[in-house]
Amino acid sequence: MAIKTAPRPNLRWTDYLYLPSILKGLKITFSYFAKTLLRKNLYTMEFPEQKWMFPKRYRGYPMLVQGDNGVENCVACKLCEVVCPPSAITIRIGHYNNPEVKERIPAEFIIDMGRCIVCGMCEEACPCEAIVMSNAHVMSSGSRSGLIFKKTLLLDDYHQIPTMRD
Ligand code: SF4
Ligand code: SF4
Repeated sequence: MAIKTAPRPNLRWTDYLYLPSILKGLKITFSYFAKTLLRKNLYTMEFPEQKWMFPKRYRGYPMLVQGDNGVENCVACKLCEVVCPPSAITIRIGHYNNPEVKERIPAEFIIDMGRCIVCGMCEEACPCEAIVMSNAHVMSSGSRSGLIFKKTLLLDDYHQIPTMRD
C-alpha cells in the first residue's frame, strides 16, 4: 500500500529564522498590554469580586427549590440519591408536621459538592421539580468538609453563597 505524505509548505529563508515570528507575537502581546494599561479594553477581571454573568440556561451546581408556602418541594423519595453517579447525595427521610399538605420531607438533605460532577441526573429524575441545576459555578473551599452542603444552604439563593468557603 502506498504511503501518503502531507505536502510540505514552501518556506522562505526568513521563515527559518524564527525571529520575525517571535517579534510578530510580541507585537500582539504588547498591543494588548498597552490597551489594558490605558484601560481601553480590559481583558482581565478582579475575580472573585467581579464575576461573569452567565446565561440563564447555564448549568451549574444543583440546588433545592422552595414552594410558595416556604416548604421545600422535595418529598424525600430518594430517586435523586439513587441515580446520582458519584453518590454525592445523602437524604434522611423525615415526616412533615402537617400530613394534609405532605407526608414526607427530607429531614436531612446533603450534597457533597466535592463529588458532584454537575451531570444533572438528579434534576432529570426528580418527579417534583424539587432539585434543579442553578447557574452557580464557583465552588471552592479550603477543606473537603466546606464542600458538604446541607439543606439550609441548598435552599438558599445561590447568589448569596460566598465564593470562598472554609
Ligand atoms: S448533578 Fe449529578 S453528580 Fe451532582 S448531585 Fe446531581 S446527580 Fe449527583
Ligand atoms: S429532590 Fe426530588 S428526587 Fe430527590 S428526594 Fe426530593 S423529590 Fe425525590
